[in-house]
Amino acid sequence: MHDPNCLFCKIVDGKIPSRKVHEDDEFFAFHDIRPAAPIHFLIVPKHHVASMAQVTDEHAPMLGRMLALAPRLALQEGCNPYPDGGFRLVVNTGTEGGQEVHHLHLHVLGGPRPWARG
Ligand code: ADP
Repeated sequence: MHDPNCLFCKIVDGKIPSRKVHEDDEFFAFHDIRPAAPIHFLIVPKHHVASMAQVTDEHAPMLGRMLALAPRLALQEGCNPYPDGGFRLVVNTGTEGGQEVHHLHLHVLGGPRPWARG
């Protein structure tokens, strides 16, 4: 399902350009346009889900695969290995949760500190 008004659906469809990190049948990952850390990219499901607030048990396998993808892509993008290296995973949810784009996305942030935000 695609929402024609959704920014991240347009990115997934290639209608808005992005710096791609990864793509498979289920997920698209791309660099954040306003990085809050030296390494900052987003993983989004291709199927439109507005936020974590819409998630049900049916989404659990997808969410598990999205979380499992993060460490692999973090290393690929240059995050140093655990435990001295690492990364932060963030899912802002709803306006009060700091969510601005209403297509579920996992922020992956890493690299040497200090970071600009967070
Ligand atoms: P916040 O802006 O508070 O982090 P979200 O959690 O909804 O809110 O995150 C949306 C993210 O999408 C932001 O980090 C923002 O920089 C990023 N973003 C917005 N537009 C684009 C774009 N065209 N390409 C890549 N990243 C984008």
